[in-house]
Amino acid sequence: MSDLSVQNVAAAPKPLYIRIHANDNVAIVANDGGQPAGTVFPCGLTLVEHVPQGHKVALVDLKQGDAVTRYNVAIGYALKDLPRGSWVNERVIEMPVAPGLTDLPISTRLPEPLPPLDGYTFEGFRNPDGSVGTRNILAITETVQCVSGVVDFAVRRIKAELLPKYPNVDDVVGLEHTYGCGVAIDAPDAIIPIRTLRNIALNPNFGGTAMMVSLGCEKLQPDRLMPPGTIPIQTGAGEVQVGVVCLQDDKHVGFASMIDSIVAMAESHLKTLNARKRETVPVSELVVGVQCGGSDAFSGVTANPAVGFATDLLVRAGATVMFSEVTEVRDGIDQLTSRAATPEVAEAMIREMDWYDKYLDRGRADRSANTTPGNKKGGLSNIVEKAMGSIVKSGSAPIAGVVSPGERVKTRGLNYTATPASDFICGTLQMAAGMNLHVFTTGRGTPYGLAEVPVIKVATRSDLARRWHDLMDINAGSIATGDATIEDVGWELFNLMIEVASGRKKTWAEHHGLQNSLALFNPAPVT
Ligand code: CA
Repeated sequence: MSDLSVQNVAAAPKPLYIRIHANDNVAIVANDGGQPAGTVFPCGLTLVEHVPQGHKVALVDLKQGDAVTRYNVAIGYALKDLPRGSWVNERVIEMPVAPGLTDLPISTRLPEPLPPLDGYTFEGFRNPDGSVGTRNILAITETVQCVSGVVDFAVRRIKAELLPKYPNVDDVVGLEHTYGCGVAIDAPDAIIPIRTLRNIALNPNFGGTAMMVSLGCEKLQPDRLMPPGTIPIQTGAGEVQVGVVCLQDDKHVGFASMIDSIVAMAESHLKTLNARKRETVPVSELVVGVQCGGSDAFSGVTANPAVGFATDLLVRAGATVMFSEVTEVRDGIDQLTSRAATPEVAEAMIREMDWYDKYLDRGRADRSANTTPGNKKGGLSNIVEKAMGSIVKSGSAPIAGVVSPGERVKTRGLNYTATPASDFICGTLQMAAGMNLHVFTTGRGTPYGLAEVPVIKVATRSDLARRWHDLMDINAGSIATGDATIEDVGWELFNLMIEVASGRKKTWAEHHGLQNSLALFNPAPVT
């Protein structure tokens, strides 16, 4: 992000627009409520019509067919003449064609290595496999949706009767999902939901201990979901395998006996988890998933650049950061391949994008299927504009690795984790990749939260932060009014991440117990 020019910073209530790059011929109106026709900005620009907050205004006379430039990128072409001071929205610009996946620049724009950032630590739960949890949670994996009502019943009883006896355990969570049966389980793409469920059970926040509840007749049998040895835990007495309660076992006579079996197994796991204590670990043990949802035109001006700054801090400290959301970065593929640490990383990125292009083709959709009515109301005209504002979450480090949907992250540093942009599916796949902390930016506002991993929410606008004061953890809107810099908010976020990871602070979503369901990505057929 360069040349962020904020007009008239000193008097925020006066007309204010934000231009991202010196080459841009549009800017966005920053004031709450927008500005009416006739408004004169300090530079002399006069609005010829009302422009809502976050929406674009033409800074020059645009002729029909002219490129509309934001982020120093053509985000579209004028469908008619747009005089200086006009409102530039999705109805008056045409979207550019999607960039191809051939002849891309490969590792051509590798940034200088960022200077190391030493000395930052947090208090985490060290796991047998070396990973570190930010929470200490008993997760109950389900092989199939059929068992979810029973597990939910058992979880309520465990929370009421057992959890108070094990104060070092933060929560008990049933990993409910809609997969497991009635699906083409041998279809090639079925590996995605299956490995997602397997790797979620291995998430660092679950302490390396897993228990599973199975129905008995389902397609996704326990040993297919969790092959023996998936979770080797050295206890001194040998390896402990995954515990399984099967509801159709002959020994279960009546509902109460099923619940008793689940509760008894849960108690043995709670004892193990309760023996764990937080210890001081370097920030390099953080695995942070970043994403955005309910985006507006401020997302790419305030919150996402601040997240990008924090991403760089984390990478400098040796941590792992994942950015995702295929359709929101697809239009900036050249920016990403040129930042790939190695040609192999660039090839992996192109492979994931190509797979996703074909997936969308199969459903007769294209990238314009992304952008919601709320995005447009918030000023984002199309996916190109949205993508440019989304990519800045990734900061400036070289891209060190690529993670396929449902796989675990293997490389430290900045990773591209290929997931749909859907908030819930992206969060679920980042959780499978090993995320132990989640950062989520929003402009329109969403109460999103997860039971399994703390979610820090960053508001793009002060108006949202004020109205949703007990849902938003950080306000990046102060960047738009010039009251804070991107660096200020980036450091604030970095420090909050350490507090939340250490369990010293709860996010608002945790405070209220806001928990969105897991949402598996299943590109394979159901039967
Ligand atoms: Ca999203």
